[in-house]
Amino acid sequence: MVMAIIGIDLGTTNSLAAVWKDGRCQLIPNASGAYLTPSVVSVEEDGSILVGQAAKERLISHPDRTISRFKRHMGTRQVFTLGKKQFYPEELSALVLRRLREDAECFLGEPVTEAVISVPAYFTEAQRAATKRAGTLAGLVVERLVNEPSAAALSAHIQEGADDRVCLVFDLGGGTLDVSLVERFENVVSVTAVSGDNRLGGSDFDLAMAQAFCQETGMDFDHLTTGQQELLIRQAETCKIALTTQPMAMMVVSFDDVHASLTITNEWLIRKCGRLFKRMTAPIQQVLRDAGLSPQALDELVLVGGSSHMPSVRQYISKTLGMEPCQNSRPDTAIALGAGICAGMKARCADIRELVLTDVCPFTLGVAVFNPEQPRRHRMCPIIERNSVLPSSKENVFWTIRDRQRRVDIEVYQGEQPYCQDNTLLGKLSVPVPQGPAGTQQVRVRFSYDINGLLEVECRTAIKEESAILLQNQEMTPAEVEKRLQALSALKLHPREQEVPRALLARAERLYASSLGETRAALDQALSWYQRELSSQEPLRVAKASRRMEQMLDSVEAYLGRDPFADGFPQWDDPE
Ligand code: ADP
Ligand code: MG
Repeated sequence: MVMAIIGIDLGTTNSLAAVWKDGRCQLIPNASGAYLTPSVVSVEEDGSILVGQAAKERLISHPDRTISRFKRHMGTRQVFTLGKKQFYPEELSALVLRRLREDAECFLGEPVTEAVISVPAYFTEAQRAATKRAGTLAGLVVERLVNEPSAAALSAHIQEGADDRVCLVFDLGGGTLDVSLVERFENVVSVTAVSGDNRLGGSDFDLAMAQAFCQETGMDFDHLTTGQQELLIRQAETCKIALTTQPMAMMVVSFDDVHASLTITNEWLIRKCGRLFKRMTAPIQQVLRDAGLSPQALDELVLVGGSSHMPSVRQYISKTLGMEPCQNSRPDTAIALGAGICAGMKARCADIRELVLTDVCPFTLGVAVFNPEQPRRHRMCPIIERNSVLPSSKENVFWTIRDRQRRVDIEVYQGEQPYCQDNTLLGKLSVPVPQGPAGTQQVRVRFSYDINGLLEVECRTAIKEESAILLQNQEMTPAEVEKRLQALSALKLHPREQEVPRALLARAERLYASSLGETRAALDQALSWYQRELSSQEPLRVAKASRRMEQMLDSVEAYLGRDPFADGFPQWDDPE
């Protein structure tokens, strides 16, 4: 029997899984029947773990027990404390992966032990290694990582069909922007250039909107408590999303002593976030320049990432490039579908066995060399240049700089800046050389960068050969893996079947906290009714009650973020 390999988009904001099955790539639903699982983890008072929507609902009500956006810290040793428990970023990611794995097992009806995970193109060695470890900690073998833009390109290839095309993939997510150029010819999908801005995404819009709201209503954003700022930013996000489908939205805040509201439109958003739009053009120009293409050479524009839903973003990009985005762009699911296709290729599924994906190195890799003008400021000497086709293996020769030098230190950097101090240090190696006059002893340094974006460095001198896979000394020993695996599996993930009620309860509590008066009273009634229904533990009754509760909460949510010109107030009639 061939074991299925699943593809996973482990996003900053949301995560999804997909699998190649019955001749096509299929998204895997979670327990709520949704494809997007929020990348949020929360620890309950009894120590059990919530992942996904239920955890997301607790971000505001239980900020000290709930965490999101930990992907930004992957590859670091930052410790997050949730209640009494402590986690590394990769352990939090592992909990999300575990949930997705369970969903996949439920969907496929068989155990799942291997995954292909997508990572941002700009992820460093340490971040990639941490992603692989997260897989291990979730009980998944992760041999293959795929860059997110390449995954998006693969799914565009399967979607669009036609070949011999040049396509620009624009991926604006929650916190990052990735832009890539992809050529498709017959069964070869080649990523030819990538660029991006890893500090630009949907949450920058939320923040800018919240700040502009304060400015216009005479509030001082910086003097709000963190909790109030969070609430306001969340309101801004809700309105931003509402503006995707409706012409206006109302931002309302009522903190203890402050009440303010403002009707906003897409024009307002464009006016207030102008500088964010402008920042989107630099990476586009960069990829076109790197590939030596003009915008006219593009055949297709594929928009990816949650923030690509924004009409203002679509307009801006279409105008900048002078072309309309593809009709079947799938902003939320393209990367997961691509990762699923990649997983299918790895599993050698029949229909896509012939498909070939070629990728490029998203950044320049090099070593530090002595700079005679400024001895303290080492220069970057590139070995593998940005956008080299992978796998890539290149060698450079360096010479000793001092008489009777005994060792040569090789510092490996990643980045585009001329001075090493402005790039990212990936690791160091030190090799002995025979002593002699300066400039007579050589070191050959070979970089091999594989398709997963993992770098191997080899150094050869007349007396020694040294090679290393640079991981900033963050590799875990098998014993360490085992220990952490045990600690993590001892954690109780909330049972899958309780996920829907748990998420609804948390959502009701969140809405309760952010509403007042009649709405609050209606929610209170609904909550106690729902809890009564849940305690019956009769599956049919619970399912019906959940449906009703969801409708109620939808109407409250719509009311709170309502179009100010519509009326209607959600009432709660106790059905009993
Ligand atoms: P990531 O890849 O970083 O996990 P996503 O691609 O899931 O992120 O995008 C998340 C971002 O997209 C969030 O900032 C969210 O506010 C935004 N977003 C999601 N849906 C919409 C929508 N319908 N309209 C506008 N923005 C949206
Ligand atoms: Mg993304």
